[in-house]
Parts: sequence; structure tokens; C-alpha cells
Amino acid sequence: MALKPNTLDAYWMPFTANRAFKAAPRLMVAAEGMYYTTDDGRKVLDGTAGLWCCNAGHSRPRITEAIARQAKELDYSPAFQMGHPKAFELAARLARLMPGSLDHVFFTNSGSESVETALKIALAWHRLNGQGERVRLIGRERGYHGVNFGGMSVGGMPANRKMFGALVAGVDHLRHTHGDPRNFFAKGEPEFGAELADDLERLCALHDPSTIAAVIVEPVQGSAGVFIPPRGYLKRLREICTRHGILLIFDEVITGYGRLGTNFAVDYFGVEPDIVTTAKGLTNGVIPMGAVFAQKRIHDLFMQGPAGIEFFHGYTYSANPMACAAALGTLDTYDEEGLLTRGASLAQYWADTAHSLRDIPIVADIRTLGLIAGIELKPIEGKPTARAFDAYLKCFAAGLLVRTTGDIIALSPPLIIEKSEIDKLFEILRTVLKQVA
Ligand code: PLP
Repeated sequence: MALKPNTLDAYWMPFTANRAFKAAPRLMVAAEGMYYTTDDGRKVLDGTAGLWCCNAGHSRPRITEAIARQAKELDYSPAFQMGHPKAFELAARLARLMPGSLDHVFFTNSGSESVETALKIALAWHRLNGQGERVRLIGRERGYHGVNFGGMSVGGMPANRKMFGALVAGVDHLRHTHGDPRNFFAKGEPEFGAELADDLERLCALHDPSTIAAVIVEPVQGSAGVFIPPRGYLKRLREICTRHGILLIFDEVITGYGRLGTNFAVDYFGVEPDIVTTAKGLTNGVIPMGAVFAQKRIHDLFMQGPAGIEFFHGYTYSANPMACAAALGTLDTYDEEGLLTRGASLAQYWADTAHSLRDIPIVADIRTLGLIAGIELKPIEGKPTARAFDAYLKCFAAGLLVRTTGDIIALSPPLIIEKSEIDKLFEILRTVLKQVA
């Protein structure tokens, strides 16, 4: 079983403390269902669906077989001025899955690329619409929209921004929604703070709405620490955008494909944005792929311009045949097992079990929605993030994969999780949190 490489040196690892990792590596060598296997043969319960992406669990035959078949049949086909049947089949199927008139799909290879694509669609659309002066983009503090220049600029995580120059010009940020103590330990959508959406009016007053192209938010902020929108917040944001002719983009890279117990957060919150970005769960994380959904009226305006290429944008691997096969196999798996709505039936149990950790003195807040949980720890004085990272290492040693950001533990298990595994997950976490107290 042991597959230790000869050297760990050459691989510059992403979002990783490389030196610490290489001094004490953690290597996964196999995965099936809810469990990873490490290079020393231990089983590790996947509390995070990989990186919020393996929604159907691991090593699912529909997906792996679809990829194997596709590799033999059509390995690659040019993405520009050429198509292949599965790309059209997948787009049509996704359009049916997404509610409302978000029925045109542009393929990318990641969440970051989906975000860049959405921002470019928004800017170009306004220009085609005779409002080329709408050039400003609005994100939100603590937002995460990937690591490329557009996404980094509208993103609101300081560490991800500070090293990289002046970023994209003309970007501003809404206030984040976290921190009202009345919302601490809320199950589901917190009660207080819908009026924080009015912060967009402040930015409209400052910049003038006629200069603003789009607002991009994660319906539930994930990477920065699981911040669930106050009840009514997203509806209010939609109303303000509509009033001022600003496009609203939902970044559903983690909330899409069943994470909240609905197909998308669009369904969960009953709010329809103009553009939706997705990735991750689209292919169960198995092959890189993203999909951007645009409303019909957005797409159709592009189709009314002069003959020729309507949108000068795309990737060599847009709608890559292997990725399309993986996505179709993933959607089949979701369908056959009812996974996109399974979270709804487990959400209460998930929330109750997560909130049972409330009695541990170092737990400052617990937030849950669908099959997501954020457990915020009180930081060790003078050593922010150290306690949560210690918990991460101890969980891994005890057979549980969690994610941490700052002093927050984020949980987002595969949607196939059983109640007994939810119990196991939080039992391990309880033991570990007592150890790091
Ligand atoms: N947007 C959101 C909301 C995300 O959570 C992520 C990744 O976690 C991204 C974008 C970036 O996705 P990727 O890492 O696939 O580029």
C-alpha cells in the first residue's frame, strides 16, 4: 500500500505550509465512499467532501466508468469552432436542473475560471446593452471567488490579496454579514442582519449606480469560514440590484449541486440572480470542470450582434470530453440516489449533532445550513489560527478529515453520509476539541 515518493521537494503545493507539510507529510493513496485511505493504511472519514467537491462520495462507478469509456472513444476535441455531442447534452441537462431562466451554460475548468467568465459576461453584456460605462464590480468582505485576478479582486480575504499588487481597478466591497452576537449558534439562516444588504445602496450613492456592472456574492460564504446570510438578505440584495440595473452573480461553487439540500442555493433561497458560477460538485471533483449559467436575456443579447464570434472568451479545455463524461456520470449518480435533495432530510440531524458541541468552552459559535457546518473556536491568545490547525492535525490522526480557515472548522461531508457517520464525525471532533482546549 505504501506509495511514498522518493522526494517531496519539487512539488510546490498550493495553499499549503510547504515546509511543515514536507517535514510531516499527509498522503492519501485511495478513496472509496465516505473514506480516504492514507499511505500508512489508515481509513479517514471525509468530513469535507475533498474540498467541498466530492458530493457523491469517492470512487463512484458511474463516474469512473464514464471517464474510462470516454478516454477510449473521444479523448479530446477542439473547444473553439467545433463541438461534440456530450457538451450539448450536458448543457441542456444542466439548464433543466437550474431553475428560472438561467438556461445557457458556458463551460470552464474551475471555480476561479467560472468567476472570471461571469465577470467578463457581465461587463460585455452592459456594453452590448449600450451601457459601457458600467465597469465597476462589487464583491463582499470575506468573500472567496478563487485566485485569478478578477476573483481575487472581488474577493475579500486579505491574505489572498495583499501580496498581489493593485488588483483589478474599479472594485469595491459590501460589508460582510458576520459578527452579530444575536446570531451566534443559530441553526439555519440567522435572524438578524437583512438590512446589511442596504450597504449596496451606500456603494451606489458613492459610485453612482450607472457605473456599476455587477455584484458577486457567495449565497453562503464558505472558504472564509461558513457565514450564512441573514434571513431576507439575499432577496434584498436582488431587489437593490434590479432597481439600479446591476447584474447579480451568485457564486455557487460550493453551494451548487445539493450542498444545501436543493439543486442550487438559487432554489434554497428562492432568489434568482442573473448569472450563477459553479464547479466542484459538477463532476464530483473527479475531473476539473466549471459551468457558468446565464439568464436567457443575457445570452440572447450576445446573439444579436454582428455575425461572427459573439464572446471573445473560452478555454482550451472548455467542455473537454472527459470532463463532460464525468459530469454526466455525476448527474446520473445524483439522480439515481436522490443526492441533490438528500441533504434536506439530513439537515436537522446534522444541525442538532453539530450544535451538541456547544457545551465545549472553546467553541465560540456554531453555524449550520444544509450539510454545511462552521465551528468557530476561541483563538489561543496571541496565536490566531493555531488552535484550529492543531485540531485539524489531531482530527486527521484520529481518522477524520476537516478543513480549517482562521480559527473556524468547516465541515461539508459527501451527501451520501449516514447518520451513524455523522455521529462518528462529531464524536471524533468532540474528543479533539477537548484535547485542544
Ligand atoms: N468560488 C468559490 C465560492 C469557492 O468556494 C471556490 C473554491 O473553493 C472558488 C470560487 C474557486 O474554485 P477553484 O479552486 O476550482 O478555482
